[in-house]
Amino acid sequence: MSWSIPIGTVKGTVIRIHITFFLFLLWIGAAYHAQGGWPAALEGVVFLSLLFLCVLLHEFGHVFAARRYGVRTPDITLLPIGGVARLERLPEKPSQELVVALAGPAVNLVIAALLYAALGGFVPAGAAEVQNAGIDVLSRLAVVNLFLALFNLIPAFPMDGGRVLRAVLASRMGYVRGTQVAASIGQAVAIGLGLLGLFGNPMLLFIALFVYLGASSEAHAVQMREITHGVVVSDAMVTRFETLPPSGVLEDAVQCLIRTTQHEFPVVDGAGTLRGVLTRDDLIRALRDRGPDTPVLEVMRPDIPVIHRHGKLEEALRLMQEKSLPAVGVDDGNGRLVGLVTPENVGEMMMVQAARHALRR
Ligand SMILES: [Zn+2]
Repeated sequence: MSWSIPIGTVKGTVIRIHITFFLFLLWIGAAYHAQGGWPAALEGVVFLSLLFLCVLLHEFGHVFAARRYGVRTPDITLLPIGGVARLERLPEKPSQELVVALAGPAVNLVIAALLYAALGGFVPAGAAEVQNAGIDVLSRLAVVNLFLALFNLIPAFPMDGGRVLRAVLASRMGYVRGTQVAASIGQAVAIGLGLLGLFGNPMLLFIALFVYLGASSEAHAVQMREITHGVVVSDAMVTRFETLPPSGVLEDAVQCLIRTTQHEFPVVDGAGTLRGVLTRDDLIRALRDRGPDTPVLEVMRPDIPVIHRHGKLEEALRLMQEKSLPAVGVDDGNGRLVGLVTPENVGEMMMVQAARHALRR
């Protein structure tokens, strides 16, 4: 999600726009300009702004429905084919997930219904061509909202329909199995869309890829949660690593980098307290921009949370994912750093678990 630009915050939810949204904007602008020059291109911008607003309202449908169940939304990312509201956690019951998933498309249906009513129930033929400048803005917007509602109900992750399907399956076969089945159905739908795209609309190929990746990442996230469930941090952390003193400079970190296979270097003071983590990428970048004498304190990430050694691995994972952290520190309860959890070592744990499962079968 690093290919997105934050544009503002509404009630604690950061709104981001994915870079491809701007490509879509350029494509529409060019298509309008070719048909009717600058006035048409301007109208295209108005249309897209309104469309943007509808997608955002769709996402806020999810946000406010989730809020009813006490679930917050740290951010929303807007893509040309829709938005992604990243919920802090899943609602507890499948029935609640169902309501949250349906709330988005419901917003588009309401907007479409209001526009139809405002237009006297009539929408001219050809309004489905979003790039057609000959059709008035409101008619096109009505059709696009209808499309958004239907498109999002495709039963595949990351579409809302995938969540609806998972909620229905989860209420019968449990959460993990329900997600696996829903992800498989989603991938089958993606392959179907891809085949249609090969013979028809190339836009479908792009959507198919998006759906396929969405299905695998959802299945992966749930598998990750299943494997980390009930595991104590001290059973999963890295305990052998080199640390840097707060007085260290980048040259010291370079020596560590070459001597070890570590990618994250904790900066630890005399009392054994974690002050921050210097990542390999930050080290290399700062080395190039600022030189080897730069203090590590100025380059490290200081916002690294520390959890107790008897804490849950799930919690460490949630912290890493939510803030895209390079590591989470583990202490002994007296503020002394005793271990590190990194995405890499959680990944290794998953490989081991998968191998054990396979052996049991
Ligand atoms: Zn949605």
